[in-house]
Amino acid sequence: MNIILLGPPGAGKGTQAKRLQDKHGLVQLSTGDMLRELKTSGSKLGDQAKEIMDAGMLMPDDLMIEMISQRIDEPDCKTGFILDGFPRTTPQAEGLDKMLSNKGLKLDSVIEMKVDEQALIKRVVGRYSCVNCGAGYHDSFQKPAREGICDNCGGTEFSRRADDNAETMQTRLATYHEQTAPILPYYRDKGVLKTIDGMASIDEVTGQIEAILPAV
Ligand code: AMP
Repeated sequence: MNIILLGPPGAGKGTQAKRLQDKHGLVQLSTGDMLRELKTSGSKLGDQAKEIMDAGMLMPDDLMIEMISQRIDEPDCKTGFILDGFPRTTPQAEGLDKMLSNKGLKLDSVIEMKVDEQALIKRVVGRYSCVNCGAGYHDSFQKPAREGICDNCGGTEFSRRADDNAETMQTRLATYHEQTAPILPYYRDKGVLKTIDGMASIDEVTGQIEAILPAV
């Protein structure tokens, strides 16, 4: 089963992708995570990624398509994958179609997570994660049970993304509207797009996604 989660930054794509990964044995393919790793590599490309990401802009399409293509070829993706943060432009969506058909693969569902954008800024600006296990938290909405200690692994070190601030978030939202939202009709026309209410609770959103996934 191969799925795309679509929605603006902060819609909850990463949270839901992790749940689908755990429940269905699918692999979460987050281009944002891949690029954050590249950023720390010290390479020239990593430095370029840092500059573009910290400004809330997008990396070049060819690079992103190649990055995803190589990752899909790895053996763990055989059971299926969830694309989280890709495609983000029409050329990426078209490139993905071509790539999947060359590999003899297909998309099962494209799920749009519809959200209230004013709420997104508050969601994104307060979020942080455990450095050790990646569990996500929020200053107001999801604090660890014991302050400063990760509920999941007991870790005590946390980090915040450089681009999770109000100013960059405005640019990321504008980028979403200009470059990513136009791919929604592309998938609607193909008959694979399903829309869910991303403002519901995390568990309710998971329930909505489960209800529309094809039976496997
Ligand atoms: P995300 O973690 O999905 O919010 O992505 C963080 C940042 O990484 C984005 O704001 C972009 O700068 C970059 N990025 C992630 N995925 C893509 C993509 N598919 N195409 C271009 N840039 C991307």
